[in-house]
Amino acid sequence: MLLGIASDPIPTTELSELFQFCNDRYFSGELDPSEGFVLRFNRSVKLFGCFRYCLETNVDWAIEISGRLRDHPRALRSTMVHEMIHMLAHQRFRRTGNRRYLDEHRIPGQPFVNRGHGAFFLGELERLNRCWPELGISVKSSFGNHLYELGRIRPRHLLVVSIANSNDKGMIYALHPSAPVDVERLNKTAQGLHDVEDFTVLRVSGELAEGFPVLRKDNAPRVRMRRLSLRGFKDKVQTLRNHAMTIDIMESRGEQKAA
Ligand SMILES: [Zn+2]
Repeated sequence: MLLGIASDPIPTTELSELFQFCNDRYFSGELDPSEGFVLRFNRSVKLFGCFRYCLETNVDWAIEISGRLRDHPRALRSTMVHEMIHMLAHQRFRRTGNRRYLDEHRIPGQPFVNRGHGAFFLGELERLNRCWPELGISVKSSFGNHLYELGRIRPRHLLVVSIANSNDKGMIYALHPSAPVDVERLNKTAQGLHDVEDFTVLRVSGELAEGFPVLRKDNAPRVRMRRLSLRGFKDKVQTLRNHAMTIDIMESRGEQKAA
């Protein structure tokens, strides 16, 4: 299937098609996958894409891309090309033995963001973004940026818990995308985690829910969730509330527990 702008169709369902398309257009067909190399979608929500390779031989094993990007052709393409630059670096290293392609260390006078994203990576990134600005490749992506189809990101619910009757301290949790807004269970969760029964549930535009700890599908806390207060809690809540799409769907006070 092809999705995207008519003049610039981006293959989105078959990663092998997308890989071929990007290899031809952006890398002049230079990438020559190792035997057994695979392309697959994964369920990651934290990582957008990753390039897997053998630590001993630098042979490429896989490019994995978060399945969430299926709905966002331009972000999908940008992520694929990012991972392909890593693949190119390893291929060049295998062919030349020159470790500079791997961007392992900071080299004085040369750009370096972190391991793997140094002078070679950034040089390729710049070349590609200059020739094809629509690629919008970056070192670190953020969900919901200009490469995303915002209409395809579903709204999410956030559980906002104020701690100790103070508006300054508190925590924000994202409800699992398929969790119901179950007042009783959320009440227990707020109580279990923070000893408070007061909470608010906000419905926000999906990209705003990124980065908050996600509750279980049944709205219970995850095992490793600790009692934390979010830095800048008050400002974060205000920013969420200021967004045009945000709706306050529920406020629960201890005394209205049964409501
Ligand atoms: Zn990278």
